[in-house]
Amino acid sequence: MSGMYNDSMQDLVRQLLASLGEDPEREGLVNTPVRVEKALKFLTSGYHADIDQVLNNALFTVDYNEMVIVKDIDFYSLCEHHLLPFFGKCHVAYLPSTKVIGLSKIPRLVDVFSRRLQVQERLTSQIAETIREKIAPLGVAVVVEATHLCMSMRGVEKQNSFAVTSSMLGAFRTNARTRMEFLELIKLRGAATIRDTSAASVACVDE
Ligand SMILES: [Zn+2]
Repeated sequence: MSGMYNDSMQDLVRQLLASLGEDPEREGLVNTPVRVEKALKFLTSGYHADIDQVLNNALFTVDYNEMVIVKDIDFYSLCEHHLLPFFGKCHVAYLPSTKVIGLSKIPRLVDVFSRRLQVQERLTSQIAETIREKIAPLGVAVVVEATHLCMSMRGVEKQNSFAVTSSMLGAFRTNARTRMEFLELIKLRGAATIRDTSAASVACVDE
């Protein structure tokens, strides 16, 4: 019981190093706990981000209803099952109703949700749902393509270490032409049957 949650993160990293059979006091490792804490705090900083603050002053009322698309957004996240990285590209599109989001804010939104312990499916749907919630567009589409180091590094199912997930809301769900236009724009036409986020997790085998 004692100290289970009271140890500092640095103490815990020292304990982890020792239980791996290492000497936490050796020269190469002596500052590792400090670095690991700093890195983990950055990589999970999305928990403390305030979406409204991120989007502050970047929601605009417009008379524009063509597809807005931001593709090839790099992201890095941590798989919640193994605390190992998964990373790749995120593509976001929406059909405005009355409001748009400043383009530079879309990658920030991706950062907020990727800098948490995640599974790829939830990351995908959280980005889509947040855009729906904030600007009530006619439709939102999010596609995430990622490589999972928890799969490839551990040598399990190497062929499945790359996964594509999507969340299609509104017009992107109901209108096949709209969906195809988006998939063509991100050059994923051959992947028109890509998994939807409602399906069970495949991105990372929980083992
Ligand atoms: Zn994993």
